[in-house]
Amino acid sequence: MTERKRSFYGWGYADYQLPAEELAWFERAWSGLFDVARFEPAAMPRADEITLRAPRVAVPGALAAVCTTEKHERLLHSFGRSVHDLARMIHRRDFSNPPDVVAYPKTEQDIAGLLDWCGANDVAAIPFGGGSSVVGGVNPPAYERYKGVLLSLIHI
Ligand SMILES: Cc1cc2nc3c(=O)[nH]c(=O)nc-3n(C[C@H](O)[C@H](O)[C@H](O)COP(=O)(O)OP(=O)(O)OC[C@H]3O[C@@H](n4cnc5c(N)ncnc54)[C@H](O)[C@@H]3O)c2cc1C
Repeated sequence: MTERKRSFYGWGYADYQLPAEELAWFERAWSGLFDVARFEPAAMPRADEITLRAPRVAVPGALAAVCTTEKHERLLHSFGRSVHDLARMIHRRDFSNPPDVVAYPKTEQDIAGLLDWCGANDVAAIPFGGGSSVVGGVNPPAYERYKGVLLSLIHI
């Protein structure tokens, strides 16, 4: 079974287009709120126009089987879903600090192995549920506390 891809920059699925009438409703409501005649719609970001920094770490051996560095996964896990996050994704196209690796641990052993490896290698491990944090909880830290390494531990 192929899993339907989530949008990497907003809510919903990657293949979902907001119906024109729904968009028109939003435009009417927001132009009233901001007292402007109309909006210039912003083009949504596309994965193929974004170049991600190469992963700075390589997960070893058995752990690699539950990890991925696939582009969509790294884009999808770069931000939470606050308005600030959406603005950085949609308006600034700022994917300059993505997680290096995304992990999908299946067992307790996977989790212990990943955390041990992170601890031993100064890699930040960020638990990730649905990714709807509005306080930067899932955003990779921008500072250099870690040796250039980040990793999101996802859905168990
Ligand atoms: C449009 C919108 C509306 C919202 N409305 C509400 C609301 O009405 N009420 C409300 O309370 N919140 C609301 N929120 C906030 C959001 O739903 C919460 O932040 C939510 O709890 C995040 O859940 P998540 O699974 O997506 O966690 P994530 O966003 O994945 O993670 C949130 C934090 O928890 C940590 N975390 C995740 N999983 C684990 C784990 N297994 N173990 C340890 N730490 C973990 C993450 O590292 C991160 O710091 C809203 C957010 C949005 C964008």
